[in-house]
Amino acid sequence: MSKIISVNAGSSSLKFQLFEMPSETVLTSGIVEKIGFEDAMFTIKVDGEKIKKTLPIPDHTKAVALLLEALVEYKIVNSLDEIVGAGHRAVHGGEIFKESVPVTDDVVAKFASLNDLAPLHNPAGLVGYNAFKENLPSCKHVFVFDTAFHQTMPEKAFLYGIPRKYYDEDGIRRYGFHGTSHQFVSLETAKVLGKDIKDLKIIVCHLGNGASVTAVKGGESVDTSMGLTPLEGLIMGTRSGDLDPAIIEFIANKENKTASEVLNILNKESGVYGLSGVSSDFRDVKAARAEGNKVAAAALDAYAYRVAKYIGAYTAAMNGVDAIAFTAGLGENDDITRKAICEYLGYLGTELDEVKNDVHGETAIISTDDSKVTLLCVPTNEELMIARDTVALVK
Ligand code: ADP
Repeated sequence: MSKIISVNAGSSSLKFQLFEMPSETVLTSGIVEKIGFEDAMFTIKVDGEKIKKTLPIPDHTKAVALLLEALVEYKIVNSLDEIVGAGHRAVHGGEIFKESVPVTDDVVAKFASLNDLAPLHNPAGLVGYNAFKENLPSCKHVFVFDTAFHQTMPEKAFLYGIPRKYYDEDGIRRYGFHGTSHQFVSLETAKVLGKDIKDLKIIVCHLGNGASVTAVKGGESVDTSMGLTPLEGLIMGTRSGDLDPAIIEFIANKENKTASEVLNILNKESGVYGLSGVSSDFRDVKAARAEGNKVAAAALDAYAYRVAKYIGAYTAAMNGVDAIAFTAGLGENDDITRKAICEYLGYLGTELDEVKNDVHGETAIISTDDSKVTLLCVPTNEELMIARDTVALVK
């Protein structure tokens, strides 16, 4: 038996989950928020209860020291030596990393060389890794990439229709994200169906604040809706998703903004939030619709329609589909949005079972027995997927 910690470091936060492997038991989980501030917050779950502290935490190294001390103090571990592996969410692996890897100096150098592709995300992954390495020198480390699962996409799916030199010289192509989630959910889907994933065509709809759809054929990603960055694809909480690139110049000229400022609008002020003017949280937007807010209703209609269009596209990409799985905050909990999306899918012979669809945060088949395509709700678990890869690579 070994204890493995899954780590997801952001620029000012650090989420963690400690597993006993191979039983996959969660021993604890928690988050450090507002790192770098006087009123940073540390939350850890002990015996099912959340313990919260507010205190100054100057940097990630101190945040990790604090969480490791808490593991001993609350007797979650007897000694830190029990933690044999740490799996770090390392967002962008470019074309270098096609799967999870044990971290070496060479891996760190190659990962750092990808900072241009993911300036907002990759540096935080390194900071998290360094903080753990300093505090837990005997533990082995693994990088798990959001992009790795999508490295099986064929060239026809990942090329943009722009001069080839931008791909050849600069690596501009579609990479896709949420790979850990899409992989986990497609494996769970195969398990629920009792079939070998090699024989299945699955479409996974990861609908959270960020959202993406992936076509998984024979267990491999063959297309996914996010691109060079997570901005492409679906309409999201605050991201626009697909649009005509000419819009960027139009807004820049009209409002005297730089390209970066316009991109900020597309990343942070758009999506369901920008369209509805209500919130990026779908619960609020749905409440507004229920009160007769027509603009909120239009935003939610556009959201579901975009998801349905991608499902159609990926059915074509795989020449069929056996199962469609909904996951992440909205996909797991929002039966109304699932229904709105499935209403477009009759041509596939899908039939949503409205009683079974009344499921929230649990794995379940939500289609009728007669449905030609199986519809499912499958909670994602990126932390567990990271722990599985880590335990396999630290042995
Ligand atoms: P992320 O990890 O991308 O931040 P999550 O997967 O946790 O996001 O999803 C968060 C989103 O899920 C929230 O913004 C909220 O809109 C949505 N959500 C959660 N529960 C529900 C629900 N019952 N109905 C509608 N939306 C929900």
